[in-house]
Amino acid sequence: MHPFIHQSHAARVVFGAGALEHLAREVALLGAQRVLVLSTPAQRQQAEEAASRLGERAVGVFDQAAMHVPAAIARQACEHAAAVGADATLAFGGGSTIGLAKAIALETGLPILAVPTTYAGSEMTPIYGITEGGLKKTGRDLRVLPRTVIYDPELTLGLPTAMSITSALNAMAHAAEGLYAQDSNPVTSLMAEEGLRALGQAIPALSADPQGMEARETALYGAWLCGSVLGSVGMALHHKLCHTLGGSFDLPHAETHCVVLPHALAYNAQAAPRAMERIARALSQDDAPSAVFNLARAHGAPTSLRELGMAEADLDRAAALACENAYWNPQPLTYDAIRALLGRAWAGAAPQAHS
Ligand code: NAD
Repeated sequence: MHPFIHQSHAARVVFGAGALEHLAREVALLGAQRVLVLSTPAQRQQAEEAASRLGERAVGVFDQAAMHVPAAIARQACEHAAAVGADATLAFGGGSTIGLAKAIALETGLPILAVPTTYAGSEMTPIYGITEGGLKKTGRDLRVLPRTVIYDPELTLGLPTAMSITSALNAMAHAAEGLYAQDSNPVTSLMAEEGLRALGQAIPALSADPQGMEARETALYGAWLCGSVLGSVGMALHHKLCHTLGGSFDLPHAETHCVVLPHALAYNAQAAPRAMERIARALSQDDAPSAVFNLARAHGAPTSLRELGMAEADLDRAAALACENAYWNPQPLTYDAIRALLGRAWAGAAPQAHS
């Protein structure tokens, strides 16, 4: 075993069907008296219901959370939080809403209680992102790490089936890359493999019965583990490609992860054989990249960048951007190999090992 450092983040996790009933207790344990509830416009009603559980400890709902945390909205939210005298935020929703809470925390230090309703995993990470002038600035800061996370699978029942599948595959990407991270350790690898196993079981079950509570529980449990991996170790080629495609070509977040993951794994397969074995074992298959590709395809997730609206003419620029600002990856990065990977991902071809 190689020497390692494991830094665990001290979030309190409350998990279970109906766990939202503990919201008032958890807010009290945080010591918050004036909680501002955050949501997207689409989830306002659910956010209001959560606020009503807090009685006088809620000081309103700010429902303007949006994908990639536009800086103007973050500023507006900070002003609103100050105006109502908030001493904590409750992020009720997916990565976009939790991202808004993080932007507020970064500016004001307000503690976050997160109630995730997708599988994106942001609630377990100290990573924030704020977008201004078309550029998403990301960073790590422990101030943005939620203090308490309530995982209530009942709240994910309304997540449309297609979004559930893409969001679950998005979560799997964190664990898969975490297994070959330069700073991985035995604890994060255990979480990663277990997270992959849970999501690999949940995806077919959710696809067959989106209202099945056991599948919803398993998926959210997997999302927690995969998010914890994302929050603990560094990511590599896959996340860099998705960040580039989302940031510079406006491709949708979770869907882009679904398309790119099998190809990024194939690129790294030779250089990271132990990680591939663990991914394949978690999915009860022999080959990690094709296991992920087949899982996505079998359950209706997108498998090509073309179907996400990317122009073929943009692939050269995407490959060049993905090679900028050197970063660690198990397999060294070359423009030609990345361009070939993107070409296959664009066309929806099966993943092909780096040669
Ligand atoms: P999202 O938060 O943008 O949600 C997508 C849509 O689904 C929204 O309209 C939302 O209101 C709706 N929705 C969410 N949960 C629902 C539910 N249970 N029922 C019905 N509708 C629901 O999507 P996401 O994929 O969760 O988050 C993506 C964003 O999160 C991206 O900006 C990404 O960069 C960020 N992210 C950040 C981190 C991090 O560590 N900082 C990690 C993962 C994702």
